[in-house]
Amino acid sequence: QNIRPVRKAENRWRIYPVGTMRVPVDIFASEALISVMDTETIHQLTTAASLPGVAGSVICMPDAHSGYGFPIGCVAGFCAGKEGIISAGGVGYDIGCGVRTLLTDIPAAEVYARRGEIADALFRAIPAGLKGSSHLSLNAEEIKQILHEGAAWAVRNGMGEKEDLWHTEENGCVAGADAAQVSTEARQRLTGQLGTLGSGNHYLEIQIVDSIHDTAAAAHFGLAENQIAISIHSGSRGTGHQIATDYIKAMQNALPDGHPAPDPSLAYAPLTSDLGRRYLAAMKAGRNCALANRQTIAHMVRKTFLRLFPSCRITQLYDVSHNTCNEEHHVIEGQSRRLFVHRKGATRALPSGHAALGPLFDATGQPVLVGGSMGTASWILCAARGAEASMYSANHGAGRLLSRAQARKRQQPRSLMDALKHAGISVRTHSPQLLAEEAPLAYKDVDHVTDTACATGIARKVARLRPLICIKG
Ligand code: 5GP
Ligand code: MN
Ligand code: MN
Repeated sequence: QNIRPVRKAENRWRIYPVGTMRVPVDIFASEALISVMDTETIHQLTTAASLPGVAGSVICMPDAHSGYGFPIGCVAGFCAGKEGIISAGGVGYDIGCGVRTLLTDIPAAEVYARRGEIADALFRAIPAGLKGSSHLSLNAEEIKQILHEGAAWAVRNGMGEKEDLWHTEENGCVAGADAAQVSTEARQRLTGQLGTLGSGNHYLEIQIVDSIHDTAAAAHFGLAENQIAISIHSGSRGTGHQIATDYIKAMQNALPDGHPAPDPSLAYAPLTSDLGRRYLAAMKAGRNCALANRQTIAHMVRKTFLRLFPSCRITQLYDVSHNTCNEEHHVIEGQSRRLFVHRKGATRALPSGHAALGPLFDATGQPVLVGGSMGTASWILCAARGAEASMYSANHGAGRLLSRAQARKRQQPRSLMDALKHAGISVRTHSPQLLAEEAPLAYKDVDHVTDTACATGIARKVARLRPLICIKG
């Protein structure tokens, strides 16, 4: 059926409930972004809005595109009570995937001068790609600890500072994780993978701050023009993927009577069911695995930089995940409700004054880390008051415009490498073929997506970053 979003206001659209939909869909997008939103994304949004216990409205971010189950760039909250559900496909395969940004005091001129050397050193030090395997060997007990402790495990084992944890969502450890709900196979997959980047859209990027857009917030974040930053985009590797695979299957097999899933990819379990509770605890373990992974990668990055620039200081701005499900309080139709909010390809965005925001960023709002592409900008935003309308969420990237197959057809690996080199971006990859799937032409215009998000009031621009070095899987 031909469902069309109705324009509500500048950059705001709504799909009113039709058919099986229980709540509306609220879309944050410009005219241009709506026009490139494919029918599959719209279908997936309306399907999410049809699930039992869905509360308020399903939210769609300006970077949204179709995914497995929920679209990427989708936020949906479900009532904590009997009627609410949790969906493994609603969190996604890369549980806890996110971005960590570090800030350095290395003069830009020194990075420019030694760009090739830095790129080579990072490429050697941080395992990436489909075959990249970890320098750390872990036993079963250590894996269990990682699933329970997250980034805190890595810090406890000498890979980072206490301050890193303060500058990480949930202080680096998601409470309520239970390794016992994670299959042996999923746990074993961490053995050779802690501290590895992975492939595809995951990246380690050395960036330069090319403009500041909010002087006060930038000062609070420790950001200045021409500063060198480091961003790490990675997730829970094979462990998270296996947790998702295991529970999507279990949810497909165990749908409650009279509750057919609207789509197998959107299989779900009641929150109060044994399966629902087990997935929640396993998903939290997956998030901890991702937090430990980014902490470990950050440690290796620091070590590499300290070898090249012995007197440099590298601090952490923030680490935020964008594939999650959180228990949160939201006001729905004037009533405070306890919800389980799925964010798939969306970051939490708590503005200044929000009760759940810690003291560190109370002055500015939570940092929101937005990737662009290896050839374009990335952005650092801070959450703003308007995020109340997006269930306190913001976009996580530019968002795909082309599928991987389409990108492969349109982008020659050779000419991409040449173009990036010409633009002064040093790229290192294990697979030029896979790199083509991630070409800048495969993504939406990150500046326009960011402008749109900020125009709706969910976030404010703090700084724009440009890539100098990009390590890809
Ligand atoms: P996702 O988590 O959905 O896989 O990716 C998040 C976002 O990262 C994408 O929407 C895209 O805008 C961005 N991205 C993908 N590859 C790169 C890259 O190499 N560098 C940067 N800075 N961003 C990227
Ligand atoms: Mn990921
Ligand atoms: Mn991601």
